[in-house]
Amino acid sequence: MNMLDLIYKKKEGKALTREEFKYFIQGYTRGDIADYQASALLMAIYFQGLTKEETFLLTEQMLQSGDSMDLSFIKGIKVDKHSTGGVGDKTTLIVGPLAASCGVPIAKMSGRGLGFTGGTIDKLESIPGFRTSLSGEEFTKNVNEISISLIGQTGDIAPADKKLYALRDVTGTVDNIGLIAGSIMSKKLASGSDAIVLDVKCGNGAFMPDMESAILLSEYMTEIGQHAGKETIAIVTDMNQPLGRCIGNALEVQEAIQVLKGEGPEDITHLSLVLAAYILLLGGKTNSYEEALEKVKEKLYDGSGFAKLEELIDAQGGDARVTSDFKFFKTSPMTEVFASEAGYVTELLAHEIGKASLTTGAGRETKESALDLGAGITLAKKIGDQVNKGDLLAKVYCDYDEKTDEAIKIVKNAYKIEKTRQDPPKLVKAIISHDNVKIF
Ligand code: URA
Repeated sequence: MNMLDLIYKKKEGKALTREEFKYFIQGYTRGDIADYQASALLMAIYFQGLTKEETFLLTEQMLQSGDSMDLSFIKGIKVDKHSTGGVGDKTTLIVGPLAASCGVPIAKMSGRGLGFTGGTIDKLESIPGFRTSLSGEEFTKNVNEISISLIGQTGDIAPADKKLYALRDVTGTVDNIGLIAGSIMSKKLASGSDAIVLDVKCGNGAFMPDMESAILLSEYMTEIGQHAGKETIAIVTDMNQPLGRCIGNALEVQEAIQVLKGEGPEDITHLSLVLAAYILLLGGKTNSYEEALEKVKEKLYDGSGFAKLEELIDAQGGDARVTSDFKFFKTSPMTEVFASEAGYVTELLAHEIGKASLTTGAGRETKESALDLGAGITLAKKIGDQVNKGDLLAKVYCDYDEKTDEAIKIVKNAYKIEKTRQDPPKLVKAIISHDNVKIF
């Protein structure tokens, strides 16, 4: 077997076998296959696609390239939650404590942000003192005692994916359904959970720009999960405008706190309740989704979810005073952005707001970039809102004048203001399991 044969085979649109994926993944991870040949195969895959069967085989090889977590020391059904990446998505910080307050053990390893997609670990590190790196014993003890621990990736999970993702990033081969499904699911299957809830983002600020591709990606991932014996559900949600009103690390934690106090924006509150309800359902805490939704609503509005967040912060060494006073967070200097015309917001491009947030220093251009945890954007107006000339549209938090000017320009361009009102896009668009697709 050699790489040239594999490249030709895929270029001609033929399906690769288990042995061929094994040869490619093992060889590339070891460093025996050159980047130029791996790139050529990725590009052939990009244009010819992978069948579901091939995607299972690729996932299996990437999973086997590294460690798998053993969560058997943690009691109960463990449910993992994963978002395919969006702008302003801080749902883990809300859904984790909420589901934990209902008794589902949340033993979650999260990642850091890259590009305009944020990462839960960076957000948590904006809480002074919060430790995202715990020993295995501490992690297990916290989950068994308070039902929740959120930490950074440990062990060597799917090293093949790490290497391949970096190559895809520089060869224009990220946005392929089979490759994304294999990349995400190899890491999720290694995370040691019993079931998985996926939030598949759809829109201009997401990898999947339209419903058709988001549903197909969801089908691929839910079938991989089921195939591996883990109940998996995918929720397709809108990413045409940012989720909530805050983008940036400390700013997003502040919004998560507001949601858990029952005072957050309607869109992110709604999505958090839906995700938490599916976690309860897959975690065996209720017999129906409706019952689960009632339970998580009760725990949100009686303050149990908020109390759980305080416990989590305390257990991981964070300064819990942040939950009652935001002055304990770092905040970068703020500049207001005003509307130059009247009308209704009909467009608020998530992709552009992500770019503006990156410009303020809230995101990483490359893996090595330093973050400004107090930087970011807050949105005073979103799609459907009425605007008068001179109204506040957004606030830009940034330490550097030059970058502030650049970010303001991008924020202004992200907004479209027109005379006729349009409803905001529907947030929860579809629910997909391995044998069912429900579109709303
Ligand atoms: N997130 C991942 O982990 N992998 C992809 O390929 C895309 C998004």
